[in-house]
Amino acid sequence: MNVVEDKFYRARITQRVDFSEDLWMIRVDTGGEFRFKAGQYATLGVQTAEKLIERPYSIVSSPYEKEVEFFIELVPQGELTPLLYKLKVGDEMMFRKVAKGRFTLDTKSGRTSHLLLATVTGIAPFVSYSRTLLKDWKDGKFGGEHKLFIIEGASRSWEFGYHDELRKYAAEVPWLTYLPTISRPWEDPNWKGETGRVDDIIRKYTDKWGLTGQNASAYLCGHPDMIEHGKGMLRRAGWQKDAMTEEVYFIPAKQSQT
Ligand SMILES: Cc1cc2nc3c(=O)[nH]c(=O)nc-3n(C[C@H](O)[C@H](O)[C@H](O)COP(=O)(O)OP(=O)(O)OC[C@H]3O[C@@H](n4cnc5c(N)ncnc54)[C@H](O)[C@@H]3O)c2cc1C
Repeated sequence: MNVVEDKFYRARITQRVDFSEDLWMIRVDTGGEFRFKAGQYATLGVQTAEKLIERPYSIVSSPYEKEVEFFIELVPQGELTPLLYKLKVGDEMMFRKVAKGRFTLDTKSGRTSHLLLATVTGIAPFVSYSRTLLKDWKDGKFGGEHKLFIIEGASRSWEFGYHDELRKYAAEVPWLTYLPTISRPWEDPNWKGETGRVDDIIRKYTDKWGLTGQNASAYLCGHPDMIEHGKGMLRRAGWQKDAMTEEVYFIPAKQSQT
């Protein structure tokens, strides 16, 4: 076994769904044992003639599922996503055998509410939490003692890859609340739901849901601006550092900061 085979599986894509022109999900069969906790990420890669290009991707699926699922955004100027975008069902990709990350649900702090804030693909770990708890709930291993409150933001509604699934869960169980919001309603006139950026509406919903820095842990995932502004908002509302955790997906390129 060479070094690459030692560390990587050649995972095969078993399903692909395109949600919009630059957002899609894939499910893969890793071909070997892959252990992870809901909220962790996997490292996906493509071998080019010159090098192996790898990036981390949060896992959408639950550890109970046989295949591993991802929700990916195409970054046209990026190194890896244009290569991933070309892959079809049946194609292979490199997949590190070890999952990483600490963005897991904190059930030890004593805070039993969990405020989950996401932008677009940042919903991935929260879908994994939800699917995992739903299975535990159905199997009688989880009694609803932890409550999830998800606020998901996107520019337009067709960027919510898991909207229908999360709405269905929220209607089915008492421990999940799901609130999608769009920031460009003028481009999506049929949208009837909440509008505004995630960080603009945090206060409105924490007040409505009775969440405080004492009873709720906050998790912020996705776009760096939402995370920075969201944390500022939460700090001013009384959340201490140890009650907030984050998964920042990228550092903006210099030219995109202007
Ligand atoms: C822990 C973790 C989990 C992640 N999970 C996911 C996930 O579930 N789904 C997912 O799509 N991505 C996820 N990412 C981001 C992912 O790892 C890559 O950074 C992203 O796919 C871009 O890769 P790339 O090689 O195409 O672009 P790169 O070559 O890495 O980046 C090119 C430029 O684009 C900028 N950039 C990168 N991503 C974006 C973006 N989304 N929007 C705008 N500019 C960007 C970078 O700052 C850089 O300047 C995650 C990142 C981390 C750290």
